[in-house]
Amino acid sequence: MRRVRRSGSTASVHRELTVTGIESMNDQAKRTRPTWPETWMAIARTVAARSYDPRLKVGAIVVSSDNTQMLSGGYNGNYAGGPNEHESSEPGQSGFIHAEINALIKLDFNFSKEKHMYLTHSPCRMCAKCIINAGIAQVVYGEAYRDPSGVDLLRIAGVSAMSLEQATAMSRAKQKKDLT
Ligand SMILES: [Zn+2]
Repeated sequence: MRRVRRSGSTASVHRELTVTGIESMNDQAKRTRPTWPETWMAIARTVAARSYDPRLKVGAIVVSSDNTQMLSGGYNGNYAGGPNEHESSEPGQSGFIHAEINALIKLDFNFSKEKHMYLTHSPCRMCAKCIINAGIAQVVYGEAYRDPSGVDLLRIAGVSAMSLEQATAMSRAKQKKDLT
């Protein structure tokens, strides 16, 4: 916040206060409204709620990097029209298609802008490979999956991968920079 100069005339002090007041209101609005990462993650979580998986409901959405378009979405589940239950009770053998894959198979590979993916949970290794081959530039995840090797693989392949907290902090820092 700017300081009001003591030496200024009444009119200029009033003008400064008004300007400062408006700026601080804008500042406040930018601090309290959700960032884009928080907005997209809220949508990914809503999509995840549609999953029939009793163990874990995962949501994935893909957006344009300028945050103007939502391109695709998916949640974990069986093939369209298939039974909404696991094929096996063995861990990792549910037979369900992962949310990332369901989002990627509906995605336009040749979409001209950079593509970012928002995931309620960090990806498994196989999904990470598919994300890399689909040309996704950045992945933001809500919760870290127990096996971090999917995220490691993304980074090795040059895909930016970060938690929602990191993405939100970066977004807020950028907003602050834009204000100055
Ligand atoms: Zn997966």
